[in-house]
Amino acid sequence: MVKSNHSLLYTSEKINKRYICILRYTKVLIINLLIMSDNNRECATNDARLDQEDVTRYSRQMILPEIGVPGQLALRQASVLVVGAGGLGCPAIQYLAAAGVGKIGIIDYDTVETSNLHRQILHTESGVKKSTRKTHSAAQAVKAINSKVTVEEFYMQLDRQNAVDTVKHYCVVIDATDNVVSRYLVNDACVLANKPLVSGSALRWEGQLTVYNYQTQHGDCKGPCYRCLYPSPPPPETVTNCSDGGVLGVVPGIIGCFQALEAIKIIVGVEPSYHQKLLVFDGLVGGVRTVKLRGAQPNCVVCGNKPSITKNTLPDYVKFCGSVATDKCVSVKLLDDEQRITAARYKNEFVDAGKPHVLLDVREPVELQICSLPNSTNISIRKILFCKSKLPLAKSDEERSSACRQLLEKLFTALDNVRQNMDRDEPTPVVVVCRLGNDSQKAVDFLNREVTFHESVTIKDICGGLTSWAKTVDKQFFTY
Ligand code: ZN
Repeated sequence: MVKSNHSLLYTSEKINKRYICILRYTKVLIINLLIMSDNNRECATNDARLDQEDVTRYSRQMILPEIGVPGQLALRQASVLVVGAGGLGCPAIQYLAAAGVGKIGIIDYDTVETSNLHRQILHTESGVKKSTRKTHSAAQAVKAINSKVTVEEFYMQLDRQNAVDTVKHYCVVIDATDNVVSRYLVNDACVLANKPLVSGSALRWEGQLTVYNYQTQHGDCKGPCYRCLYPSPPPPETVTNCSDGGVLGVVPGIIGCFQALEAIKIIVGVEPSYHQKLLVFDGLVGGVRTVKLRGAQPNCVVCGNKPSITKNTLPDYVKFCGSVATDKCVSVKLLDDEQRITAARYKNEFVDAGKPHVLLDVREPVELQICSLPNSTNISIRKILFCKSKLPLAKSDEERSSACRQLLEKLFTALDNVRQNMDRDEPTPVVVVCRLGNDSQKAVDFLNREVTFHESVTIKDICGGLTSWAKTVDKQFFTY
């Protein structure tokens, strides 16, 4: 049985090398199948069957020349490990289940929360009420879509002790975690277990996708791994996650679908489109770009000629990245205790006592629409950090002072106004607030170090930001 030559696998000259296919149309289709690429050849077995129900269910995709009966059988015999059952993982899992992937492994260590529901489309309000594990919530959704799919739930955090042994049992791995620590860990595990890795990310309106560690079916080209492209992790303070930066739910939805698509192509033996290429999706302008990536690097520490990372020498990823394996916000500590004030103390000493001060809110203006404290002055941390990048251009102290005034005009105006009601000898208090107390620390640090004030000021931040205010001072205050 020779398939259309649309498929890279099914051309006649490759038949002898790549697969043996004997197809009998009786009530049951019996196929001896060996169609997997080099990466996942071990996932194929020699005995597989489709029945009438399968044919009815999958017929729309089976009549595609690139899928056909062999492709559908390959899907059923395949297994995909999805690391993360969140915004990327949910749509990926959903389409893999619907397409008839035989086994789906789901790794996650979180429970379902209300803030997940706008993008993590397999989870439900009932899951929030019961604090259901995301692995279980996703597994239930898979069963409702396609009861023939086997789901393996891993309610755990992937780490260097369990990563390779978990990954090795699957044909394809999808990284749907979107944090730097997991990216390195999943990458290394996939290289060591020789598995293709479909990696996605999404933030705000933008998403990216690429396929790492993929070996072409001829075996003549092995793509780069994540470390080939990024040998060193980015500084933790430059990484923004969805919790901090926001994300429109449909954006990870689109990227997660792309991840399922690439995984399916790998399974049925069609070369993935984003092997050694990066897809860059911009949902705001509706743009899709493809960037060519450099190939595998011979000196890569995990996939190169002389790898220093092996199964027994996986590094401490948290230490290596200087951050933790979570997509959630993490508290940072940049300031000494005397430069900080608790929400309760701020209320007592400033608000209740009517003490003149400038309250500087460094969130984005759009966040102030959700909630804010009265009489705050808003300059976003983004603008403050932009100022930071501009100030070194000033040649003299005078130029620097004038640049500060221009860039942070609202702060200086607020200081002038407050100072009118104060004793001249007293320093003017500036209290900086943000959502969680991280950006406020960056702002205090910058204002103290870099900005030239004409008169004396004391600058502190509110520990834990407005989230702490809502917890400890005003329980009616919105949190987000
Ligand atoms: Zn590499």
